[in-house]
Amino acid sequence: MSLSATIKTPLVTYEQPLGLFINNEFVKGVEGKTFETINPTDEKPIVAVHEGTEKDIDIAVKAARTAFEGAWHDVTPSQRSRLLIKLAELFERDLDILAAIEVLDNGKSITMAKSDVQNAASCIRYYGGWADKIHGQTIDTNNQTLSYTRHEAIGVCGQIIPWNFPILMWSWKIGPAIAAGNTVVLKSAEQTPLSALYAAKLIAEAGFPPGVINIISGFGRTAGAALSSHMDVDKIAFTGSTLVGRTILQAAAKSNLKKVTLELGGKSPNIVFDDADIDNAISWANFGIFYNHGQCCCAGSRVLVQEGIYDKFVARFRERAAKNQLGNPFEESTFQGPQVSQLQFDRIMEYIDHGKNEGATVALGGERHGDVGYFIQPTIFTDMKISQEEIFGPVIVVQKFKDEAEAIKIGNSTAYGLAAGVHTSNVNTAIRVSNALKAGTVWINNYNLISYQAPFGGYKTSGLGRELGSYALENYTQVKTVHYRLGDALFG
Ligand code: NAD
Repeated sequence: MSLSATIKTPLVTYEQPLGLFINNEFVKGVEGKTFETINPTDEKPIVAVHEGTEKDIDIAVKAARTAFEGAWHDVTPSQRSRLLIKLAELFERDLDILAAIEVLDNGKSITMAKSDVQNAASCIRYYGGWADKIHGQTIDTNNQTLSYTRHEAIGVCGQIIPWNFPILMWSWKIGPAIAAGNTVVLKSAEQTPLSALYAAKLIAEAGFPPGVINIISGFGRTAGAALSSHMDVDKIAFTGSTLVGRTILQAAAKSNLKKVTLELGGKSPNIVFDDADIDNAISWANFGIFYNHGQCCCAGSRVLVQEGIYDKFVARFRERAAKNQLGNPFEESTFQGPQVSQLQFDRIMEYIDHGKNEGATVALGGERHGDVGYFIQPTIFTDMKISQEEIFGPVIVVQKFKDEAEAIKIGNSTAYGLAAGVHTSNVNTAIRVSNALKAGTVWINNYNLISYQAPFGGYKTSGLGRELGSYALENYTQVKTVHYRLGDALFG
């Protein structure tokens, strides 16, 4: 099978790389395997890509190690900065191509895809800005010693990303790792390998030395497992399910105790008080769950509404969600496209059936949309028992609460702690409740707005460490303390 293919989309026709990207070249996998990636809109294969397995991971890690010890070591922080900024410019130049790939491979709507690519470019540029501003401290210990710290790169970083935001997660992982001077082997999700490979082409064009960033398409149980248990990978960063996050932590513990950061799932509460601006709260609740078809780790999948406005809220939320435009994700007016895969579609429909069988009221949706493609109607449940599991689809449960104490109790009642929302016009309520919620991000009178300048990550089983902002750099550096003894007076 060849190493590239011409792909036609309604927006652009472009050349898609298909190989594994190692040492700045696209190559076939050692075992010669390939796998197809499916268009979730029509359920047909788009193209087959080369599959990386354990041996390819090993080759990529060697390339990353050689670059880390060699050419990359001599690249100055300001040169790293220039390379990242150049890469961001190439993302912006090829915004239409990258966005079209996301629509094709993931099914997200074109407007969301364009915004993902723009945010990915901005994130890479932001870390380009950080590359020459990472430094340690001098510390006054005593008059005979010069003590200082260096914030050094960790080494070879393995990165495993999911399919819900393929190019955005690529940028969140690669930006801080490279800014801090590490080298990378990134494994994309098997459902959405295409944008990661196109972006790999841009890495070579930007002028990164060979081996600094390597991109492998492949499956979790083979390539992903090989990366997380590799003895020469110094750090692993993962975004995906809590189940796999635990496996990764175990693999790290059983191998070389590599450093681990995990960004996992959620069952985030979006709390609406009686005194909230109801129109705004409804529009954020709608965006909170139905954005990206509910396939967001921080989706506000539980709306908790105070009893005074509960009935009015449910009626108007239903009306609002019914207006979400479902359909061809290449249409500018589409808000919601298909779910990413048959597997995700089946999982979500199972949760919906389970809700119905438990006697929950379906206030909206609850069915497949159309006959072709993995489309699911925006679905609102009420009268449902407290929900604990992440559904990762366009399904929301609306629950009633009496007072602030009950809202906090229900809000904190799951094993997750990724995000939460609070809607109120009372500043004191807003601050008290946001302080009491066990979540890594709290949105007050908004929801789902993430900025690459501010940290993102989870409490409880939602993760370890923080991505984005200056906080991410702490996860990609290690601190060395140096004590330099001054003078030559005899010790002791
Ligand atoms: P997943 O966790 O299985 O996959 C995410 C990534 O991990 C993929 O790149 C996959 O290849 C890799 N992976 C899988 N098994 C691995 C292993 N043993 N070792 C190393 N890497 C491995 O997620 P999924 O099956 O695609 O989706 C299942 C559920 O996970 C979803 O329904 C959702 O609840 C959750 N999820 C969360 C996020 C998030 O952003 N937090 C993203 C995707 C999925």
